[in-house]
Amino acid sequence: MIRLRQYLRKIMYIISVMALFCIVVTDAQAGKINNLRIGQGIGTVRVVFESDSDFDYKVFTLNEPNRLVVDVKGVEVSQNISKNKDENIFLENIRVGSSGVNGIRIAFDLKQPVLVKKTFILPPQSGFNWRFAIDLEATNERDFFAKLGSANSQSSDSFNRDDILPKNNAVPQKKTPTQQSKRKIIVIDAGHGGVDPGAIGYKGTYEKKITFFMAKELKEELDKNSKYKVYLTRNRDLFIPLRDRVKIARKYDADLFISIHADSAKNRKAKGLSVYTLSETASDKEAEALAEKENKADIVAGLNFADHTKEVSDILLSLAQRETNNSSSEFANILSSEMSKIVKTVSNTHRFAGFAVLKAPDVPSVLLELGYLSNPDEEKLLRQEKYRKKLAKATVKAVNKFFQDPKH
Ligand SMILES: [Zn+2]
Repeated sequence: MIRLRQYLRKIMYIISVMALFCIVVTDAQAGKINNLRIGQGIGTVRVVFESDSDFDYKVFTLNEPNRLVVDVKGVEVSQNISKNKDENIFLENIRVGSSGVNGIRIAFDLKQPVLVKKTFILPPQSGFNWRFAIDLEATNERDFFAKLGSANSQSSDSFNRDDILPKNNAVPQKKTPTQQSKRKIIVIDAGHGGVDPGAIGYKGTYEKKITFFMAKELKEELDKNSKYKVYLTRNRDLFIPLRDRVKIARKYDADLFISIHADSAKNRKAKGLSVYTLSETASDKEAEALAEKENKADIVAGLNFADHTKEVSDILLSLAQRETNNSSSEFANILSSEMSKIVKTVSNTHRFAGFAVLKAPDVPSVLLELGYLSNPDEEKLLRQEKYRKKLAKATVKAVNKFFQDPKH
């Protein structure tokens, strides 16, 4: 017994000496990024890190707050680089922290949306050390959103060597069990915005305002549950083309997409809430007319949606779409039943039509029409925060029920 203990102690000693040796060796090999320069061009910015060795890198953008992220491996980073004060139009507040195993993250806050145009590393020459350059250019909010996240990174070849899945895989993937236990991602889309006011109510209420308030209030309610991660397609009064709203949902890898709208009709008496899902054939004339109206948002803003119908109809053919439609319908039914407990809903509350905004092939998506702004009573109700909160709470109940089913 004693001999065994002595033996184990000896092994532990050998292991700890070896571990120490490894740390020393790694340390001796690791180079250091010890300088940062930021150069301003015309509408562009070049960021240059100087290092005394080569290293692996990954560069991408994130939002909330908007930032440029540079992950590096196999190199140390001097905290001095965060003191850089080079004048430029894009970057401010540099932070250096750790990121995963052996990784260091350098983050820059963005003053405006940018795209990573190019990254490259130059070996030592002409008295310079190793240099790693990132070229940035200005972009609009829409393209910035479309390129968010590490899946759109520019990186050294070996940075992702441990990744099993190919990068930028366009085929919708089945969620693995580990992903299923993660937080559910919900994207809420406030209909219309910017130059497109949507429907205009009996007393002049803009649909885009009601949808925006409701989206924020719904996010607030959903945020109370730590199992959900909630994003909005727009955080302010902004025009976003319909296909880009779909892209945003896919970009976030959403588990559920809820597009919020409010209806209007010539008949002032028309009222009630309804829930729509995507279908190639509309459930009735009214649904068809509504889809046509909502799809016009892009035309209002001077974009021709017709150019994209081919692309969208191709996607529609995929099997993923059919599976997604089943999930969308399930959620729409749950939502309709929760809503009908608390407010006036239209008959056959869950309806079908060809809404462009519901065409993400792999994201269960519904369109919620809160009621008729053309009806003076409903317009008045929809303007009240208390009423919208009630709708938000019922929606949360439906979301909870939907995700209780392990297949979602
Ligand atoms: Zn609308």
